[in-house]
Amino acid sequence: MKSQKLTISLLALVMGCLIFGQNTLKEFTIVNENALEIHIKVQSRTNEIFDNLVKIRRDFHKHPELSEQEKRTSMKVASYLESLGLEVKKGIGGYGVVGILNTGKPGKHIAWRADIDAIATDIPDVFDFKSNNDGIRHICGHDVHTTIGLGIADVLSSLKQNLTGTVYFIFQPAEEKFTGAKAMINDGLFDMIEPDEIYGLHLSPSPSGTILTKPNNIYAHRTKIEVAYKNADQKDEKINYTKELLSGLQTYDSKSGFWDDRNILSPELGVNSLNSLYKNYVAVRSDFYIDETETYLKIGAIVDASNLDELNAYLESIRKEIKHSKFSNDLLSAEFSYVLGENKSPMNDEFLAKESMNTISRVYGKQNVLPMYGVAPGSFGDDFTFFQKHTPGVYFFLGGSNFEKGIIAMPHTPNFMVDEECIETGVNYFSSMIVERLKN
Ligand SMILES: [Zn+2]
Ligand SMILES: [Zn+2]
Repeated sequence: MKSQKLTISLLALVMGCLIFGQNTLKEFTIVNENALEIHIKVQSRTNEIFDNLVKIRRDFHKHPELSEQEKRTSMKVASYLESLGLEVKKGIGGYGVVGILNTGKPGKHIAWRADIDAIATDIPDVFDFKSNNDGIRHICGHDVHTTIGLGIADVLSSLKQNLTGTVYFIFQPAEEKFTGAKAMINDGLFDMIEPDEIYGLHLSPSPSGTILTKPNNIYAHRTKIEVAYKNADQKDEKINYTKELLSGLQTYDSKSGFWDDRNILSPELGVNSLNSLYKNYVAVRSDFYIDETETYLKIGAIVDASNLDELNAYLESIRKEIKHSKFSNDLLSAEFSYVLGENKSPMNDEFLAKESMNTISRVYGKQNVLPMYGVAPGSFGDDFTFFQKHTPGVYFFLGGSNFEKGIIAMPHTPNFMVDEECIETGVNYFSSMIVERLKN
């Protein structure tokens, strides 16, 4: 996850407020006995390899590597995949690795993606198994993502006889720089593999044992809206008018606590509450900027929108208002552009998001699969979205916190920690999900 800095207050509140159902891995509500049997096999294999997966995760944690320098990590990934008997392709778009599990039977092609890079930071590690590489740490949890990817590859390899079709395991470098996914694609990834669907996850501060997702974008569209006029007279008036117009049309209530980070994950108002503050909104940041030359005057602001429809409607109202104002003749344009050059939010396929959540709910309990109703404002993103432009798929948040133990899995924070039980959750849930997707 590429993310902005989050305040400590958010962590405190996450700890205080989130009360979710406990992990109930052993409870099945599936009625089809054959279906049940394969998920028991998934769980028992996950159980067998769990201790080793924890060792693998700690090894990655002790040897973090920066984006585009993931030499050791990719070597370890490749040799693990080879040990499972998978066909392995290395050096794709840098240190990208792909493992191919071909069941030898015709069927669907499903891809799973994990990211493998770490982050530069001078803040010392909080774990016993500290980073051996000065100034580099896994504080975005990609050590866990990589381990879960290997775990799923192991579990599904052990079930090869029971499966049809093909599963691809994509280990992507340089997510933190937003360059890895594109590099793999440009290096011919989709000539080597032909997935019908693609899935991936990111750790989140929700409790270990839970997952979250939603259809469409899972982060806000962070854009810059800019209104350009001919730079004629009435400059100050135009500036004041436009500032008022941009702020006046926004859809959230300024007294609602929208910009209070602590609300983003709160049970009453947060992204996975039915009454979320973060559904269907356009929010304008108050720090406007002015850009001026002899010919034009531009007034702009950063705008977060929950979805494209809201954003487009907002822009349309602005154009309409200005066209009916006394500045109508001077208006050159009113447009939005993405702050990061393009939309960096994963864009989940609507059908697959619902299907995959239903599948995991059926096998592992509805209380552990939390729908998201809103998206947080801010400049978050994941270049998983570039894979989704090619192949429909779903990006999940995997809970990694354990509040009782004081473990808060908030990526990019100095005390980022992970409840390693979430490795088991990730391997179980998503192995089962892929098993079911292969059947369809
Ligand atoms: Zn990340
Ligand atoms: Zn990150």
